[in-house]
Amino acid sequence: MSEKIQSLRGMPDILPADAPLWQHLEDTAAAVLRRYGYARISTPILESTALFTRSIGAATDIVEKEMYTFADRHEESISMRPEGTASVVRAMLQHGLLQTPGQKVWYQGPMFRYERPQRGRMRQFHQIGAEVFGLAGPDIDAELIAMSARLWSELGILGQLRLELNSLGSPAERRQYRSQLHDWLAQHRDSLDEDSQRRLDTNPMRILDSKNPAMQALIEAAPKLSAALGDDSRRHFEQLTGMLDAMGIAWQHNQRLVRGLDYYTHTVFEWVTDDLGAQGTVCAGGRYDGLVALHGGPEVPGVGFAMGEERLVELLGQQQRDFGQRPDIYLIIADPQLQAEALALNERLRDALPGRIVLSNLAGGSLRAQFKRADRSQAQIALVLGSQEWAAGEITVKWLRSERAQTSVSLAQLADWLQQNMPNN
Ligand code: ATP
Ligand code: MG
Repeated sequence: MSEKIQSLRGMPDILPADAPLWQHLEDTAAAVLRRYGYARISTPILESTALFTRSIGAATDIVEKEMYTFADRHEESISMRPEGTASVVRAMLQHGLLQTPGQKVWYQGPMFRYERPQRGRMRQFHQIGAEVFGLAGPDIDAELIAMSARLWSELGILGQLRLELNSLGSPAERRQYRSQLHDWLAQHRDSLDEDSQRRLDTNPMRILDSKNPAMQALIEAAPKLSAALGDDSRRHFEQLTGMLDAMGIAWQHNQRLVRGLDYYTHTVFEWVTDDLGAQGTVCAGGRYDGLVALHGGPEVPGVGFAMGEERLVELLGQQQRDFGQRPDIYLIIADPQLQAEALALNERLRDALPGRIVLSNLAGGSLRAQFKRADRSQAQIALVLGSQEWAAGEITVKWLRSERAQTSVSLAQLADWLQQNMPNN
């Protein structure tokens, strides 16, 4: 006997039982994004490795150790996308879509990172993301954050999330702070943990992000990014927070929020929950004003976010709401001779009742067996098609989830009758 092949570590299947949750999340997100004027974009899963190393930064966790990178048959280095922004920037540039300022796009799809699999951290996971190009002001940052808040509110999870906000300043300010922080941390090299020692020279700002309790006192004492910001950056941040206040969106200034990717400037933000254990960030984003130019394009500013669908689905799952849809009708075929007629009848019912879930009993079976299946399907109604009734142009309607009496309905009137008598789901 041959061994069963299993899925790869950290690359889970999404099974039918969870599909209604995913569908609810994706439908709700698509509807909200539409209301703010975003158009969908889909880019390939495979891209040139250089696209990601250049945009995300060579000294980031993603590029250093998380990318699925391999040579194709012509020895070209390609990678499976670890995130969406780099690909969207590439596509917008490649197709000349950055001429008009204010382009708003969104995407959804799988991302790949070779991480240690754990709760909230997979090797294949899914993101929904939004990106806006050509707008430099804080108004779009604020609108983008408001849009995410609206999505949480529609999903019923806003109360479980807090918004953390920071400013990384202009590239020059960021560079200056980075070297100031580097020099300060270098003086305390002996107090740094192993991870931070490794990061000290390559990505010192990421040390601020350390979750190691032993590092917290040192991080608190380190020079603050806010002190390194110039007037323009400060004004951008103040205007943004003023707009959030005006919209009634609560926020917290987290001076240690730096984000793991090199391309961020000015605004960065995360939506975080305490209800998912250690991996509590469900959405993260910020401004990336230099990224388009970095890819050889014009000086077009950008801002966006990406949310982790797995983490959001887990939060939604905690609500114990029933996102699934139960069937409305289950057609039982009492006489095997009427199989073709039964299929045709159900097609007519689907024509007439487009919002209803209509099932046919398939593969025959005794009446008893068919009723059992009808019951297990959780349908509201069983229709029973027998030969005598068929000859008389009628069908039996039996309520499966209520005490209502069984009745006979003329086939000609069946669709109308169902329309009037079936409760809405
Ligand atoms: P973290 O600090 O958790 O590693 P990150 O900075 O790598 O996060 P981003 O690249 O900003 O994360 O991705 C945006 C969102 O995508 C995250 O906030 C999270 O919800 C989700 N996400 C990122 N990596 C994973 C993963 N390996 N598995 C599941 N979801 C993920
Ligand atoms: Mg990560």
